[in-house]
Amino acid sequence: MAREEILDRIEKYVDPFRITKGKSFRLKNFDPGDTCGLRLDKGEAADLLQRGTEWLAEEQDMLYAQDRWSLLLVFQAMDAAGKDGTIKHVMSGVNPQGCQVFSFKQPSREDLDHDFLWRYAKCLPERGRIGIFNRSYYEEVLVVRVHEHILQRQKLPPRLVSERIWKERLFDIAHFEDYLTRQGTMILKFFLHVSRKEQKKRFMERLDRPDKHWKFSASDVHERKFWDDYMHVFEEAIRATASKHAPWYVVPADNKWFTRLLVAAAIVEAMEKLDLEYPTVDAEKKKELQTMRAALNREK
Ligand code: ATP
Ligand code: MG
Repeated sequence: MAREEILDRIEKYVDPFRITKGKSFRLKNFDPGDTCGLRLDKGEAADLLQRGTEWLAEEQDMLYAQDRWSLLLVFQAMDAAGKDGTIKHVMSGVNPQGCQVFSFKQPSREDLDHDFLWRYAKCLPERGRIGIFNRSYYEEVLVVRVHEHILQRQKLPPRLVSERIWKERLFDIAHFEDYLTRQGTMILKFFLHVSRKEQKKRFMERLDRPDKHWKFSASDVHERKFWDDYMHVFEEAIRATASKHAPWYVVPADNKWFTRLLVAAAIVEAMEKLDLEYPTVDAEKKKELQTMRAALNREK
């Protein structure tokens, strides 16, 4: 199949999950078990994913060579939705030199002495690189919003903390993303949308399998009690920050193979739109290359 045709098909799959306008977005309209009617066995899905990762590697190579754009991939999700596995599989083909992964956990004391975007801004990808945020500044309007005692630790002057704080933060995030896009950072944001039922199943698996015990955390089970609160704040975050230049992808996450394929497809499709190409050299440089070739040929 020709490249254009494949891209067309990819676009059809990705389109329904890409949110570029927040206003009409409702999380309840998205099914975590959706696979677009596709039913692939493990081997078929792995084959397709491999083609996606190879394509991604080609795009990354040009991104790196061109050294103009950078790509920021933001991953947000409830626990056990598959962030780690998706990052591992989708990025498996890319050159590690052009890729930077940051996993954001609880903030440090130093982080808390700064504005809320500070620690994330320090980790933004350089030109030509792909930056991956495994959790991100969105935690500042997710976990911090669900557990307001975390906000109290952030040492803000009291008069700056009002009921409007979440609206303000979402506004700040949207502007931060506008700014970054204008600086040449393409931002793609992935919400891996897992169902509460599937999360329970995955926690049970972690308990059943000794090789998965290290992944199990009692606090993750505790967080399940706040499921509805999380869904509410995720919805608000997506509504306030989805835009054409920094879209959200609400990725069904109950089937891991589908999650990975869709994420790979979305990245490839977005990178294709950048029209990346290898830098061409000017006439002077071409002459220099010819001289060098001649010199190497003369060597004994
Ligand atoms: P995994 O469990 O797969 O290793 P993880 O991303 O869940 O990955 P953990 O160390 O389990 O990593 O948890 C990180 C915790 O840090 C999460 O509970 C998250 O909500 C919390 N966290 C992230 N950012 C912030 C923040 N800005 N303020 C407070 N807590 C945060
Ligand atoms: Mg965790």
